[in-house]
Amino acid sequence: MPELFDNHNRRIDYLRVSITDKCNLRCIYCMPEEGLADLKKHEDIFTYEEIEIFVYHAIKQGISRVRLTGGEPLIRRDVVDFIKNLSSMSELHDMSLTTNGVLLADFAEDLYEAGLKRINISIDSLNHEKFKHITRVGNLSIVMKGLQKAFEVGFNPVKINAVVLKEINDSPSDFKDFAKLTFDYPVHVRFIEYMPFSKQMGLDMCLPCSEMIERLKKFGELEDVDSPRGSGPARYMKFRGALGTIGFISPMSNHFCPECNRLRLTVDGKLKTCLFSNDEIDVIGPMRNNHPEKAVEEVLREALKVKPKDHSTARKDHFVRTMSQIGG
Ligand code: SAM
Ligand code: SF4
Repeated sequence: MPELFDNHNRRIDYLRVSITDKCNLRCIYCMPEEGLADLKKHEDIFTYEEIEIFVYHAIKQGISRVRLTGGEPLIRRDVVDFIKNLSSMSELHDMSLTTNGVLLADFAEDLYEAGLKRINISIDSLNHEKFKHITRVGNLSIVMKGLQKAFEVGFNPVKINAVVLKEINDSPSDFKDFAKLTFDYPVHVRFIEYMPFSKQMGLDMCLPCSEMIERLKKFGELEDVDSPRGSGPARYMKFRGALGTIGFISPMSNHFCPECNRLRLTVDGKLKTCLFSNDEIDVIGPMRNNHPEKAVEEVLREALKVKPKDHSTARKDHFVRTMSQIGG
């Protein structure tokens, strides 16, 4: 099995693929209320076939894990067939998807049959009003039906992503609701520090994970545990007697750059080597103009060469893309 190493000797085996920049929610920390003005034109978007070709050759180079994301990946047409094609690539060891869960109740069964076995669902609050406030247009009951369906169908692990925003969803009752969920379901709740990518919210909205842990400790005895399958750089803990775990992803307070193993492919076919850098490598051009295998080989080689050592060496005058445009 080939392996890819970057210039800082980190093994790179994980690719996040954004399949759309569109979304059916408008989370206050991710998108403006009216949606994004500069959505990519149809001809500028990587087709499913092009993504499949990229992934196929990237696997041959050493990528073995892929996460599909967006925007909201389940709103792109024919996503189930696309997933079926990816899962037929035998050397792809692990595939997962991040969704806001709005369409999950409808899609869960087909996604599972297509070969997707694990899923991350973003739910920032278990309080109906707060969920509505954060997503602007979302309905928590619909997303919870999706979560329920994910368990019924057999997804494992099922993870929840919750971005914590100061004074919006950081109250004792917010943490208590999620703590309780880990007693009721074998779910992995991951609290994420807000990263100030949007123009609407600054760093002052970010609650550090250390503070989240302090607030959660009030609801029981928390112990450190091993991370569930396919976890990135999160610290995992568990309440004694709970079925599920609680993870903490701290991109702001505790950078995980030394363990960074990932590349990101944007919907318009650009390779990003660091979430915090504006640098991008064009993939769509070389792939459309050259022999695809050679193009993939060359862009990966370039990516490994320029991937910054850490945030401080990343070029970030201001963020030119939001998370929904990068593929979170
Ligand atoms: N629409 C899907 C969803 O919400 O799960 C997939 C795309 S979304 C960009 C992926 C993840 O990034 C979500 O869990 C979302 O909460 C998170 N995210 C978006 N903007 C963020 C930010 N500024 N800081 C931290 N996490 C963010
Ligand atoms: Fe859409 Fe996900 Fe961004 Fe929310 S976080 S607006 S669901 S892309």
